[in-house]
Amino acid sequence: MTYPNTQLFIDGKWQDAAGGKSLAVFNPATGAEIGRVAHAEIADLDRALAAAQKGFEKWRDMPPIERNKIMRKAAALMRERAGAIGLLLTQEQGKPLVEAKGEAMAAADIIEWFADEGLRVYGRIVPGRFNLTTRQMVLKDPVGPVAAFTPWNFPINQVVRKMAAALATGCSMIVKAPEETPAAPAELIRAFADAGLPDGVLGLVYGNPADISNYLIPHPIIRKITFTGSTPVGKQLAALAGKHMKRVTMELGGHAPVIVAEDADVALAVKSAGAAKFRNAGQVCISPTRFLVHESIKNDFAAALIKYTQGLKVGDGAAEGTTMGPLANPRRVTAMAEFTADAVKHGATVAHGGERIGSEGNFWQPTILTDVPLHAKVFNDEPFGPMAAIRSFNVLEDAIAEANRLPFGLAGYAFTRSLKNSDLLARRMEVGMLWINMPALPSAEMPFGGVKDSGYGSEGGPEAMDAYLNARAVSINNV
Ligand code: NAD
Repeated sequence: MTYPNTQLFIDGKWQDAAGGKSLAVFNPATGAEIGRVAHAEIADLDRALAAAQKGFEKWRDMPPIERNKIMRKAAALMRERAGAIGLLLTQEQGKPLVEAKGEAMAAADIIEWFADEGLRVYGRIVPGRFNLTTRQMVLKDPVGPVAAFTPWNFPINQVVRKMAAALATGCSMIVKAPEETPAAPAELIRAFADAGLPDGVLGLVYGNPADISNYLIPHPIIRKITFTGSTPVGKQLAALAGKHMKRVTMELGGHAPVIVAEDADVALAVKSAGAAKFRNAGQVCISPTRFLVHESIKNDFAAALIKYTQGLKVGDGAAEGTTMGPLANPRRVTAMAEFTADAVKHGATVAHGGERIGSEGNFWQPTILTDVPLHAKVFNDEPFGPMAAIRSFNVLEDAIAEANRLPFGLAGYAFTRSLKNSDLLARRMEVGMLWINMPALPSAEMPFGGVKDSGYGSEGGPEAMDAYLNARAVSINNV
């Protein structure tokens, strides 16, 4: 599929920005400009807002079974088109085709799960306190039009996690999708439009992220904000939302600890954490980053992880056999160079990788740093790239304390054969998601979200539905 120019989607119509402005989109494997994306102005946002209000009123009043049919049709279209959508995603984001197609397929699964969950948004009847002729009802209503801000690492997945839950509850949504990877999220919106979604229920805009969030968040039509991205930006948006009393879900950065205990199955730990580490070139909020390995097995673990890493094939995501693509933008290459130099300056060893590959595109070697001191930048700031930092520990409680040291609390991993250790880890690890003896396995039916500076709210399970619902109490005295 030839890479397209991406337009805005407002009130059921694909259109250029009112001011005719657009931004360039680049292929991270080559650095070449491959297309353009429309850059919305205030006039476009005003039309998207009016449409979102109109769309909300229509969608809210549609029986859930009818909403379910449209959502299921959109899911089927995503599945049918996954190959073609994957090609676009790889061109704009860099990830290997198999991961890109997988992201489109996973979107279908998420849409279906939430579509069905939407059939079960029940209120309840509570017996009257003083007599049974008083009918007390708890009604669950959609919050209203939502503004969603999503990043470039999973351009489809980050939108669909928000959108599927919002649509299933009867909300409308304006999505500000990533300007660097615009075509794949546009295909997600297209699947809904082609499935018969009423005009205005979904809007799609791109432009200057700060200008758009500063306009949409305070706007009276918008009732709920949802953002995925970095913690500093999340804090700014949450503060603005707080000022205007808007409900908020924040899915922010992490710095996932991986604890490999003395009694761990090292082969399982390497296979699981290695796969999670280098997926999407490490640009994943739940990517394992701080490897805390028991002193007695640290050399075996590092050697096995290096061997795993040597088996990766780095290249253009569109090429056959590639297992790790380029980084999504040049900012990440600069960041990897800074993290590596800083770690070395503080005494860490580059056990594998540590350099840029070639001069074309944003390629970085899968990198393993060992004996990393706690004060190195990579043990404190989220690397968001293909970089594993390893240090050892002697006592499990110390490893847990290190895992909990940072303000982040998104994902965590641990490997141990002991029930006692597993139980301690489950109780003490300050993370929103913990995987023990297994790779990360987020799914539509499980909560997805963080604690501490990693944000609040959930993008999975019934909790994700609650995020888009108001519970109202209505009592009727039947005189
Ligand atoms: P960034 O912090 O500038 O942007 C992160 C995301 O927020 C981008 O999608 C951007 O468009 C958006 N954004 C920025 N300012 C905004 C604003 N005022 N209003 C609305 N949206 C805004 O950094 P970046 O270089 O794009 O990414 C770097 C860091 O962001 C990474 O190191 C990582 O920590 C974090 N990140 C996290 C996720 C995630 O899945 N949680 C995804 C992408 C990036």
